[in-house]
Amino acid sequence: MFGPPGSGKGTYASRLFEGLRIPHISTGDLVRQEIKNGTGIGKEIEGYSKRGELVPDDIIIELLRKRISPSDCSGGFILDGFPRTVPQAKALEKITSIDVVINLDVPDEIIIERLSSRLTCKSCGEIFNKRFLKPKVEGVCDKCGGQLYTRDDDKPEVIQERLNTYRRQTKPLLDYYKERNLVENVRNTEAAVPPEKIVKQILDIIKARK
Ligand SMILES: [Zn+2]
Repeated sequence: MFGPPGSGKGTYASRLFEGLRIPHISTGDLVRQEIKNGTGIGKEIEGYSKRGELVPDDIIIELLRKRISPSDCSGGFILDGFPRTVPQAKALEKITSIDVVINLDVPDEIIIERLSSRLTCKSCGEIFNKRFLKPKVEGVCDKCGGQLYTRDDDKPEVIQERLNTYRRQTKPLLDYYKERNLVENVRNTEAAVPPEKIVKQILDIIKARK
């Protein structure tokens, strides 16, 4: 799943699981899990974040390699949040192969409208929206009962800058996958499209490519 922050990537990826019965793997979740479990890798990752440095690619690749080995991934998996760069894509090819890249194509103004109303669970990272994807109980995560909050980087003034950075950084990667004929665009120009509609569109694309 490929798309800027606020394109609905995580939401669609977790719902696609219901249609495809293959795991949704978020590298962000893998990293949080390691930190939470206090593993060696988790401590190493914390060190990088404390120093304000990016987690090196080989650490993420190693986490992914471990995650995609169990039998629940034998029929495939949905990757969300990775790769972001061409070197990461090349490293990923050494441990698995990618069948299709779903590129969520959403205009900036729609993303800004959406992200500024986004809520994130403090405990599990699940994402809700004050307007489009409300939790059952206000301020409480449906999944784990954790507390919901607005992340600093979901504040409107920060979003445009994040989008510019994202587009600049990922363009070479999108081009790389386009050259390999793997990219399918899913355009979404409305702020309040029901997730099911987009998920159906993605499932149809996947079926058609099989
Ligand atoms: Zn939660």
